[in-house]
Amino acid sequence: MGYPFHRGRRLRRTANLRELVSETRLSPGQLVMPLFVCPGDNVRNAIRSMPGNFQLSVDQTVETCAELADHGINNVILFGIPETKDAVGSSGYAEDGIVPTAIRALRERFDDLTIWADVCMCEYTDHGHCGVITDGDVDNDATLPLLARASLTYAKAGADIVAPSDMMDGRIGAVRDALDENGLEKVVIVSYAAKYASGFYGPFRDAAESPPQFGDRRSYQMDPPNVREALREVEMDLDEGADIVMVKPALPYLDVICRVKSEFDVPVAAYNVSGEFSMLHAAAQNGWLDLEKVMMESLIGIRRAGADIILTYFAKDVAKLLAR
Ligand SMILES: [Zn+2]
Repeated sequence: MGYPFHRGRRLRRTANLRELVSETRLSPGQLVMPLFVCPGDNVRNAIRSMPGNFQLSVDQTVETCAELADHGINNVILFGIPETKDAVGSSGYAEDGIVPTAIRALRERFDDLTIWADVCMCEYTDHGHCGVITDGDVDNDATLPLLARASLTYAKAGADIVAPSDMMDGRIGAVRDALDENGLEKVVIVSYAAKYASGFYGPFRDAAESPPQFGDRRSYQMDPPNVREALREVEMDLDEGADIVMVKPALPYLDVICRVKSEFDVPVAAYNVSGEFSMLHAAAQNGWLDLEKVMMESLIGIRRAGADIILTYFAKDVAKLLAR
């Protein structure tokens, strides 16, 4: 039976009724805030293309995490801006590197903060690629031991989660083996399983100072038209020991999130990347969009597509809004 017995508008009449029948919810516990850690003391360098985001020295990273915790955000993922770069990204796996130093400081201050460490080489290599270069190309198999070594360094420093984002084949297995052989079997691996070669990473490269000095990343990151290939990537990473799989970016790839969620019974994360964040800010600054509305609509859309976890630069702003 249809109208007039059934009226869809009945359940939309008041805010309480809409809340009662809401199919998808957002909560601060599902959000992960990305932070960029840089050398120095008391440094807060504003990232011009990402309003409200900063390159933070270790002390300021600690302060920021305290503020995030006040808003119920207890997951952060760290990216490093090192003092020095070289061909093999050695500042990425050095024990006194910027990220392990930050992890130790956070671990000392917070018991219940879940510390994620992004694992990749592009922030630490002078050529800006996500692996070592042999004969002008990114050398997959030569990169694996270095990614494993970086993961081990971060895990030993106290990271709860390591998240390889390089898209080399076989890296999840290499990382899992290295962790397990060193008694770090409790450390979680979040795999950036379906990471696309996307134009939406533009502002991040400002923030992390990591653009490739030659060529691009299309020989290792995924090609935007493909979704079946994403499912194969996810399957391989799960076979190699990933605990959580990620799709990146989020908004242009909601169908990929949906397919991954429906075909694999594991937690799915999505990265609401810098370009997705900055374009909303830019439009809002022009008075073209209402920032709060489109921020919430974007994140609820990512959840509705099937993401259990969202990495987002909006984490604190969303938590503040939800607490109102
Ligand atoms: Zn990278």
